[in-house]
Order: sequence, then structure tokens, then C-alpha cells
Amino acid sequence: MIIIMLGAQGTGKGTIAGLISKETNWPQISTGDIFRKNISEKTKLGIEANQYMEKGELVPDEITVPMVIERLNQEDAQQGAILDGFPRNYAQAQKLDEILAKAGKKVDLVINLSTPKEELIERMLTRRVCTNQDCKATYNIKLQPPKKEGICDKCGATLKQREDDSNAEAIHRRLEIYEQQTSPLVKYYEEKGVLRTQTVSTTINRMGKDVAQDIIKDIKNK
Ligand code: ADP
Ligand code: ZN
Repeated sequence: MIIIMLGAQGTGKGTIAGLISKETNWPQISTGDIFRKNISEKTKLGIEANQYMEKGELVPDEITVPMVIERLNQEDAQQGAILDGFPRNYAQAQKLDEILAKAGKKVDLVINLSTPKEELIERMLTRRVCTNQDCKATYNIKLQPPKKEGICDKCGATLKQREDDSNAEAIHRRLEIYEQQTSPLVKYYEEKGVLRTQTVSTTINRMGKDVAQDIIKDIKNK
């Protein structure tokens, strides 16, 4: 089963994808995480991608698409995968449909997360990530703080703020690109009949883990 996580920055795509992945054993394929791992290892891909990421711009499709194809072709993704951060524009969505079709697959479910905009910016500013690239746990110093300040509960490594979360300009640019380029995909997948929209918001006390639980239940009942 191919699942896509759609939704603006700060809606909790990564958290929900991680919970579904743990339950199904399908890998969570986060393009942002793959780029960040490459940046920390100073690979050619990482150095190239970082020029765009630090400004909050999208990494060009010529770099991103082949990277995702290669990841989807790996053995552990053959039963299913949860794409977190891809596709982000129309060209990527079409390319994904094409490559899946060649393998006799398709996008089965698109989880579209919706959160009030004021909450999104707040969540990006209060997000902290584990510096251990094999762990990558995320926390929120207000909503979901670690037991010990600045330290990852899971692996003990230090937590830090993401470069693009600490820069107001990059935050605004990312949200702007989401509106312009990514949000049209809501309609694209709605027309294909695979869209499932879920609200995540503290105002209705519905958090990512609640959404994940509902979705996991549905997947298991299928
Ligand atoms: P966020 O959704 O909070 O921006 P991600 O970790 O998903 O965080 O992405 C971080 C950055 O990585 C993006 O701002 C962009 O530069 C790059 N990136 C991630 N996914 C893609 C993609 N599908 N296409 C182009 N760039 C991407
Ligand atoms: Zn950790």
C-alpha cells in the first residue's frame, strides 16, 4: 500500500508517518530526512540540496525525483511505503503515478492534514529534532517536550532546532510554496478518490497520534 502524507509544514506529517510505519512495517520515506542525512554526511547530494533548503526553497525535481525512485525500488518498500514530504508539486505527483504504474502499483491513500495557520508557525518554532541521524525523533517543547530538556528520550543524543525552523524568512517561504505548489495536489488526489482530510489542532484537542490511531485501525480492517 502506498500512502502519501500531505499537509503544510508543522501539521505533524512526520509524526503520523512514523506511527503508521511502526505499526505496518512499511518504511517512512521522508525526503527532508534523506536530504538532512546527506547534509550531515556532506555528500554531493547534500551540499547541492542544502543551497535550496536553507532558503526554504524546493530542491529541484531533477535531484528529488530520482532519489525517491531509488528509495522506492529498495526491497523493504515493496509491500508498502509511507511518503512523507513527496510529492510537493504537480510534476512530482505525475512522475510518481507514472513510476508506480510501471510497477503495477498506485497511490492508495493520501492523508491530508489540516491545521490552523497560526498554529503551524508556532509549531515550527517550538519543534526540536534529535541530532542522531539514525534516530531523528522530533519533539515540541510546548506540546510534547522530552523528559530531560535538550536530550532525546529515545537515544540520549542532544536535540536541536532545524536550520529552516529558526529562520523566519525560510518558514514563510516554505508556507508560501506549500500554498502555491503543494496544496493544488489536494484536488488532484481528491479527483482520484484517494484523499482523506484530517484536522490536527490543539483547539479541538485532536493531535497527530489520534489521527494515526484512526488510520491504523482502518488499514488493519482492510
Ligand atoms: P518541511 O515540510 O517542514 O519543510 P521537510 O523535512 O519535509 O520539512 O523538508 C525540508 C526541505 O527539504 C524543504 O523545505 C525542501 O527544501 C526540501 N524538500 C523536501 N521534500 C522535497 C520535495 N519533495 N521536493 C523538493 N524539495 C523537497
Ligand atoms: Zn534520538
